[in-house]
Amino acid sequence: MSAFGSVFMPEMAISWFDGSQWSDTDVVSSDSLQLHPGAHVLHYSSTCFEGLKAFRHEDGSVKVFRMDKNISRLAQSSELLALPAFDEAVMADMIRDIVARFADEVPSPPGSMYIRPTHIGTEPAIGKAAVPSLTSCLYVLLSPVGDYFTGGDKALRLLLDDEGMRCPPHMGMVKSGGNYAGALQPIMKARAEFQADQVLFCPGGDVQETGAANFLLIDGNEIITKALDSSFLHGVTRDSILTLARDMGMDVQERELSVEELLERSARPGCEAALSGTAAVLTAVGTLIYQGKEYPVGNGGIGETTLRLRRALNDIQWGKADDTHGWLTSI
Ligand SMILES: *Cc1c(COP(=O)(O)O)cnc(C)c1O
Repeated sequence: MSAFGSVFMPEMAISWFDGSQWSDTDVVSSDSLQLHPGAHVLHYSSTCFEGLKAFRHEDGSVKVFRMDKNISRLAQSSELLALPAFDEAVMADMIRDIVARFADEVPSPPGSMYIRPTHIGTEPAIGKAAVPSLTSCLYVLLSPVGDYFTGGDKALRLLLDDEGMRCPPHMGMVKSGGNYAGALQPIMKARAEFQADQVLFCPGGDVQETGAANFLLIDGNEIITKALDSSFLHGVTRDSILTLARDMGMDVQERELSVEELLERSARPGCEAALSGTAAVLTAVGTLIYQGKEYPVGNGGIGETTLRLRRALNDIQWGKADDTHGWLTSI
């Protein structure tokens, strides 16, 4: 199987905003996009994106998971980047239509069709470093993906970084390109120096998230994660897992979690930690690395509650459990 997100369906849905109105949605080849080299996005990072998935159910139907929530997050990201507003209902049609067009290509579980709506500022205006792009382009790419966990489901090693930050605090809730490029150096350094898989950003000792996933601490019946504020990305998977945890009667705590409390709780037997995100669903964290020292989380392996929550979410996505929260959209 190729690397996650490197295979694309041959066509994508696209719409252009010319400064006053959006074009009708078009379906075009997905192998190129014509842009002026001076386009605002290429210089000033006026770009945001989403990541959601469509799943094939046993009866052959295809369902998109939490589409509305992802679309409203794209609208919010666009607003925070001063990109032109778009009609969320039109975006929903773009997603539904392009997924329907490639419905036969949606892999069966544990695979899925990864959907990547993207919004970019297209105005050719390199003088607009401090001015929004008047024109923009929205497109929806599709990428069939296999089982994220093939090749072994290993618990991750995370380096705790309490000095740097992933991105400026007011950009945390924006799913925007520059945030990822900006976090690469600390992540590469953590890989080279500590063989860490990811960096867990904890600015000023406040446990936040990694480069592209939210962090959850599971201690017995308690599940602890940072309360929503503008400094980090409000994951749809985070929200879904917390909802399922509440359904199971767990004590869900959305609050500040300090590095000190994290390390103290991690040492307890039975403690678990996990990363949540659309791509990896819920991935176990086995080791925390802080100030050159390694701290196993619980027994250092993959926790039972982590697996139970992941399965509960997959069961809904795959049509094996009732969609009691109305998270699936038929196409
Ligand atoms: C996308 C993303 C997440 C996870 O969000 P989901 O909606 O669960 O996929 C978490 N953190 C960052 C920084 C992200 O980019």
